[in-house]
Amino acid sequence: MKVVPRILVVDDEEGFRMLLKCGLEDEGFKVTEASDGEEAIRLSREHTYDLALLDLRMPGINGIEVLKVIREVSPSTDCVMITGYQDVQLAVEAIKLGAKDFLPKPQNLDELINRIKNVLRAHTAEAHITEIQADFTSKLLHDLLAPLHSLRSAIDFLEQGTAGQITDQQKNIFQSINSTIKYMDALLSDMIDLSLFESGRVDINKIPTNFDELIPAVCARFIPQTNSKKIVMGVKVNNNVPTIAVDPEKIEQVMINLLDNAIKYTPEGGSIQINVSSTTQDVGGSAHEFAEVTITDTGVGISRGELPLVFDKYKEVLTGKSSEKKTTGLGLAICKSIVEAHGGKMYAESTLGKGSTFKFLLPTESL
Ligand code: ADP
Repeated sequence: MKVVPRILVVDDEEGFRMLLKCGLEDEGFKVTEASDGEEAIRLSREHTYDLALLDLRMPGINGIEVLKVIREVSPSTDCVMITGYQDVQLAVEAIKLGAKDFLPKPQNLDELINRIKNVLRAHTAEAHITEIQADFTSKLLHDLLAPLHSLRSAIDFLEQGTAGQITDQQKNIFQSINSTIKYMDALLSDMIDLSLFESGRVDINKIPTNFDELIPAVCARFIPQTNSKKIVMGVKVNNNVPTIAVDPEKIEQVMINLLDNAIKYTPEGGSIQINVSSTTQDVGGSAHEFAEVTITDTGVGISRGELPLVFDKYKEVLTGKSSEKKTTGLGLAICKSIVEAHGGKMYAESTLGKGSTFKFLLPTESL
């Protein structure tokens, strides 16, 4: 089936917008219009476009601000700036911010449409290559996981003594093999999760979810671990948090990872505080409401050098520090992908030796 490219045309000049829309529709593209920056930001949060054509100069939120938001909320959308001849300086700034190209508003519409078709051709080719790479990675990871599972079954079989009595020494060896298999299984599963997010193939099944219940319920599951380390855990839910549309299983996964880390990196006798509230943030010049969850611990903290990389999947290579605790080092990268797939944001603050705060924000409007 041929996929029709979707284009978002953002321009405050109605005549030009209509002309461009008609010209692109005649070429067989699916076109959506936005007459100002605010509408463009709303549409790009709700839908994914292959290409956004952004007028640089618009009253209110200008093309550069719209570009910044689209780069953040929909990285797979290519942005092309439509400029006047006097705007070269601004257009160069747009390229630095991730725009694919800038095209001057022409006297001749055909010329503009031809250049847009070239950008779309390159976009389609790039998307195709990314898809092939994602297919290959996914197949490779699953191919590695399958023999690992067979290996585990074989070890279980031997461990149970079905193939003959085993000695205590052999039992210890089997345990060590099992723990390595478990680590490799976790690593491959995390890599599969991440590659699914990166290729945009994860299904986010949003349903109206009550944060007043979800967050405390996940925290309650960690009471045995906090008790055994004599860590005091507090959970505070402000009553201003609305019901929001999220995938509860995925948000649970984020919470589990953050709580697991908080407990792991907080010494005995420390404390962990979880707060859930509602907050307003400026996005592209207008106020938006978010549910905010913070997890603050009094643990070992993270150094200033490592902090900017905590959400990066390459952090262990970049910092040259591999995890001593046989963890995958991909947990926070997955958390960030989940939060961003919900249109949210994730942050970390930390002081070495004093503790860390991990925070995520989820938009409440999409309900
Ligand atoms: P891992 O599987 O290693 O826990 P994560 O991505 O979850 O991977 O965490 C990455 C790294 O960030 C950890 O190895 C640790 O160095 C640091 N980190 C994460 N959470 C905390 C925390 N609450 N306190 C201190 N360090 C943390």
